Amino acid sequence: SIRLSERVTSIKESPSAVAADHVRDLRAQGRNILSLTVGQPDFDTPESICEAAVEAIKHGETRYTSANGTPELRNAIRQYYLRRYGRPCEDDEICVGVGGKQVIALALMATLCPGDEVIVPAPYWVSYTDMAIMNSGTPVVVETTEADGFKMTADELEQAISDSTRWLILNSPSNPSGAVYSTSELQALADVLRKHSDVLVLCDDIYNEIVFSDAKPKGLVSIAPDLANRILTVNGVSKTYAMTGWRIGFGIGPKALIGAMNKLVSQISSCASSVSQAAAAAALTGDQSAVGDMVQAYHERRDFAVERINQIDGLSCLSPDGAFYIYVNCAGLIGRHCPDGTVLGDDAAVSDYFLSQASVGTVPGTAYGLSPYFRISFATSIQVLGDAFDSIEQAIAVLQ
Ligand code: PLP
Repeated sequence: SIRLSERVTSIKESPSAVAADHVRDLRAQGRNILSLTVGQPDFDTPESICEAAVEAIKHGETRYTSANGTPELRNAIRQYYLRRYGRPCEDDEICVGVGGKQVIALALMATLCPGDEVIVPAPYWVSYTDMAIMNSGTPVVVETTEADGFKMTADELEQAISDSTRWLILNSPSNPSGAVYSTSELQALADVLRKHSDVLVLCDDIYNEIVFSDAKPKGLVSIAPDLANRILTVNGVSKTYAMTGWRIGFGIGPKALIGAMNKLVSQISSCASSVSQAAAAAALTGDQSAVGDMVQAYHERRDFAVERINQIDGLSCLSPDGAFYIYVNCAGLIGRHCPDGTVLGDDAAVSDYFLSQASVGTVPGTAYGLSPYFRISFATSIQVLGDAFDSIEQAIAVLQ
């Protein structure tokens, strides 16, 4: 057998990928599974963006680009950053990656030394902790509460910071809770961060255009510009423009950090796909009406799903302010008996039960570091959501 590196043996495969695989396997066996596990828009990439990619191919934009992207994409990112964060940025403050995911991995790879701590509020996106571990860091998980809207308080941050803290990772709107930090909540966190000048902040804003309030949330860097020299803002086109397969994400941050990340890009991937970069530039600079239409659809689905969930015996949920996930509290089901006599001991058992009994795929809260909950995605039709909730309701009705 092949001896693997500790880097690999110390991490697990992404649990949402595992859950999605499980759904795929059952479907291959002929089972009709309603999947609420999907972490991507169910919409197609808008036509005009696809056309920009076709044009790029026809015009021969098929070669390596600079490590930090084409001038067109960097220009589009600068415009976006100015428009959305109210701040100018320069080319050497921009990193272009193969998805926001790669940008986050590069940031940790560029900065972590053994023993460095990364503060990750839970529930968290599954990759933060494993990415920290794979780069010799130590995740410090801070459990938030549903009462606080799944948001880390200033006190919790203060208590989590130690001499070894290197990064705080903030994800707003959050995957898996949909929680969005308000301006005053970010101000309170910024006050704590001002006292700890060695702590870097990674703001994963990948869902920041998918929000259900009239006013779009502000990023930390807009609220606390004095901290800009240690904030890395990560964003991308995957979620906003239904472009997950194009694999373009970007980070804007201090030059020394970005320079190190771009050096890694030059050795690992050379650059992101030139054709995808052209599409991403078109997405960021073109007509934004498709985004509004998609957000409107998510909004209707959110309202539908939240209302249904809160009517189901044993389940409850907050109404998420952004992204397309609901983190459902299933404490009311723990301890109940299944028809075969087994007990629902934890959220993983609840999620398994929904899959076997109700043919509905969900991801258990254990994956996100806060139990007993499970995540559903509403990046699917109201029809599928309604059928899934009917089925879950019937499965819960036969519990003892
Ligand atoms: N951050 C969060 C919170 C996510 O949920 C995802 C995707 O699932 C990403 C980052 C990365 O997205 P991408 O690599 O497609 O830009």
